[in-house]
Amino acid sequence: MESNSDLKAVAAPVERAAAIEMALTSRGVATVEDLAERVHLADEVWLPERGARVVAKAWTDPVFRTRLLANGKSAVAELGIELPAHHRHLVVLENSHEVHNVICCTLCSCTALTVIGLPPDWYKDLEYRARVVRDSRTVLREMGLDLPAETQVRVWDTTADTRYMVLPLRPAGTDHWSESQLATLVTQDSMIGVARALEAK
Ligand code: FE
Repeated sequence: MESNSDLKAVAAPVERAAAIEMALTSRGVATVEDLAERVHLADEVWLPERGARVVAKAWTDPVFRTRLLANGKSAVAELGIELPAHHRHLVVLENSHEVHNVICCTLCSCTALTVIGLPPDWYKDLEYRARVVRDSRTVLREMGLDLPAETQVRVWDTTADTRYMVLPLRPAGTDHWSESQLATLVTQDSMIGVARALEAK
């Protein structure tokens, strides 16, 4: 059973954030404006909609798709999407009927966050990080993605300098869809590889 001192040791997230902000600003590591800019980027710029644009363009422009698969970082820069300097590589993993790709960070929470958005809570969970590697098919099934037995599953473990995104299969029945229509079918989960792109309605 937890004692009172254990309960006191864990502050609410908002109090911890305030303490970190105070520690950074009081030591001159960052200004209040720097931190506000980071919050703005995280909340309003680094959104999965960016990655969705990349996927939709790859679905409709085979030449762009080739460039994207060859060098993800320079291809997304064409769409105005920058990666931090320490994200040295963006590797784009193309799904097919034969191979399904899924990404994780076994160490912590690394993602190509400026392209596919900040990682969801479950991505940072020890349960996902540990189990998706050794029992990927089961984990995917539990998350609602039941892959045919003949589809091979490949799991990619993110590192500090190599980030991944999955290029999901283009949904059937979207032959004449525009890029912006297609982008609405691309979810963050599909770019992590725990779901397919949404079905066309
Ligand atoms: Fe990480």
